[in-house]
Amino acid sequence: MAEREIVIMGPPGAGKGTQSGRIAETFDVDHVTTGGALRENKDMETEYGTPREYMDAGELVPDSVVNEIVSVALADVDGDDGLRGYVLDGYPRTISQAEYLDTIADIDVVLYLSVSHETLVDRLTGRRVCEDCGENYHVDFDPPATEGVCDDCGGTLIQREDDREDVVTTRVEEYREKTAPVVEHYEEEGLLVEVDGEGTPDEVWAEIEDIVAAHT
Ligand code: AMP
Repeated sequence: MAEREIVIMGPPGAGKGTQSGRIAETFDVDHVTTGGALRENKDMETEYGTPREYMDAGELVPDSVVNEIVSVALADVDGDDGLRGYVLDGYPRTISQAEYLDTIADIDVVLYLSVSHETLVDRLTGRRVCEDCGENYHVDFDPPATEGVCDDCGGTLIQREDDREDVVTTRVEEYREKTAPVVEHYEEEGLLVEVDGEGTPDEVWAEIEDIVAAHT
């Protein structure tokens, strides 16, 4: 098993991607993101159809498709001597995924980013992503120097299909119905550490860095 096995949870828009990236860089672990992997394979044919059909509607992709992605990603980490573990971002999102993860991992800590409903709707609907390099911006909180253009690579900034306001509502409902029970599951197992996710990325990071250092 890997040296550091970390899960980061929270509603969509809580800042999981941003904070996972920092964890990966600072603690030398792989950033395993099911949302990212699915976005790269949106039109992959599965027995349940393509991921796109679920994602663009704000619904969860079927468990077996996502479990397979994670199983391959974690096996890759185990085979890579340069990395000291992984941070799982956006997985598990259902009790069945959590049960599957228990069979292939030995999680050290589950970070739970708590954010109010108003904040996450503001963050998601204002988010813009570079279609070339994937860098994230926000129209109010973190705008690029030139509107619609990526500071890093000059690519075009777009709104993710699932960040449109109507889809955001479905994503938050999916979270409350299917993912909130996973938070309880880890709380019962004594693995959950709650982090206030309302602050700036730097403020939240200061807390997370200490927690990860203490638990892995
Ligand atoms: P994210 O970027 O983590 O917000 O994920 C974007 C979308 O990918 C979600 O709204 C789901 O449709 C899908 N997705 C990501 N992770 C999972 C998962 N663990 N289980 C099911 N669907 C997922």
